[in-house]
Amino acid sequence: MWNVCLQEPQDSPNGNADGSSSHHQSAVSSHPPSSSAPTLPLKCSIETCDKKFAKMKQVIDHLNADQYQNLTGTSVEFITEAAFDEWLHSTQRDNICTFVKGTRRVDLSGTVSYYYCSRSGSSKPSVPTSERKRDLKVQGYTKINRTCPAHIIQRVHHDGVVSVKYYSKHLCYTDVYEQLGHIRLPASDRQWLAGKLALQVPIEVILREVRKKLDGQLQRLHIVTKKDICNIERAFHLNRPERHHTDDATSVSAIVQMYSGEENSPILAYRCQGASA
Ligand SMILES: [Zn+2]
Ligand SMILES: [Zn+2]
Repeated sequence: MWNVCLQEPQDSPNGNADGSSSHHQSAVSSHPPSSSAPTLPLKCSIETCDKKFAKMKQVIDHLNADQYQNLTGTSVEFITEAAFDEWLHSTQRDNICTFVKGTRRVDLSGTVSYYYCSRSGSSKPSVPTSERKRDLKVQGYTKINRTCPAHIIQRVHHDGVVSVKYYSKHLCYTDVYEQLGHIRLPASDRQWLAGKLALQVPIEVILREVRKKLDGQLQRLHIVTKKDICNIERAFHLNRPERHHTDDATSVSAIVQMYSGEENSPILAYRCQGASA
């Protein structure tokens, strides 16, 4: 086992009120969004509806009243923040989503934090396009340009107890498999990959190891691409000049091809699940 302690720099989720986030903070502060104040930043989730709202609660109320969505929040309580983190991880894994921590406020009873679906909102070009063309493109397709109502309101009480209101219903995707390609790799997987890179394990070998980890439910890690790995390399400042990967052939479809026809193929299992018949 390796001893490398890898900290991913500048990667704490930095969600905005609309549930969008800036993953590339370096130039954000010097380029604030345009001055035309976005008073109603939350666009309804439903494609045929153009209503906009200021608060998530209004979106939920509208979806329930006018769009027959029947969205409800479930209350969950945890005795520690660690227990909450564990729940958050498994919730994200099981529902194929990423929650991004948004606004936070402190009141008498504790600290209230909001977590929004990472696909919610629009990707605003907040950095010069000349520098960030590639990243913007990557960010661009992960956003639905509407509000996904899935969110978590987390209250950490002074005694450490965490109470949560969880709105579990996503309206950001219809196809589970497609969704895998749109969410971020969990931090633990990114660190695992960065550890491999730090040990100079060749990318091909890393990709083989990833596929070996596939044992049941298909997860985001299993469709990791060379591009993902290059992004991690950059994020962890592990860049080495001899590594250039413009080839993004390790795409979702390539993985599907690789597994199709194999016995116990998780892709086949997936297809059975997704099939309407
Ligand atoms: Zn609507
Ligand atoms: Zn969502």
